[in-house]
Amino acid sequence: MKQHVTVIDHPLVLHKLTLMRDKTTPSAVFRKLLNEISHLLAYEVLRDLPLKTIRIETPVEAMEAPVLSGKKLCFVSILRAGNGLLSGMMDLVPSARVGHIGLYRDPATLAAVEYYLKLPDEIDQRPVILVDPMLATGNSVSAAISRVKQAGAKDIRFVCLLAAPEGIAALKESHPDVSVFTAAIDSHLNEHGYIVPGLGDAGDRMFGTK
Ligand code: URA
Repeated sequence: MKQHVTVIDHPLVLHKLTLMRDKTTPSAVFRKLLNEISHLLAYEVLRDLPLKTIRIETPVEAMEAPVLSGKKLCFVSILRAGNGLLSGMMDLVPSARVGHIGLYRDPATLAAVEYYLKLPDEIDQRPVILVDPMLATGNSVSAAISRVKQAGAKDIRFVCLLAAPEGIAALKESHPDVSVFTAAIDSHLNEHGYIVPGLGDAGDRMFGTK
């Protein structure tokens, strides 16, 4: 089985992540940094995409050159904070299909409650990249993975910015076949289910809400 967790601790990622963690960073800058980091995460997560060669002519001569092959990728964003990672990934793979899953955390139980689902066709034949910046308890991500599996998805990777050890453990238990890619693993979750030291509520930081 593939390695379950990959920490993408490239210096550029870590530098940008520190700026995002800083509570004085305004929403507009936070969103821009998240978009930039999503490019760097996508680069790593997609490094084993299959290729085929096609014949082209450069201005100098003809050659066999590599292009992506296989069924188009599918990105699935867990609303709403997932959209902050999604847009940068779509910049890099504009032909990808896109799904959305709306889940909110019940503040009392921290359980995931689904309120929206729209997934592309033939998801069973596409690599699925599920995105959400924060892997906290793992409840929402686990529920989202179960939903895409129900729809037939088989090759699923999960990309986040920050993970808590509790969330990683929960995901390993519930979906051991799903690889996790994160920029950092923080210390723990607090009593409200927030990642410590974390960056606060990613959705609120992105959209300036409280
Ligand atoms: N979701 C967030 O946005 N932040 C956390 O710290 C945990 C879950």
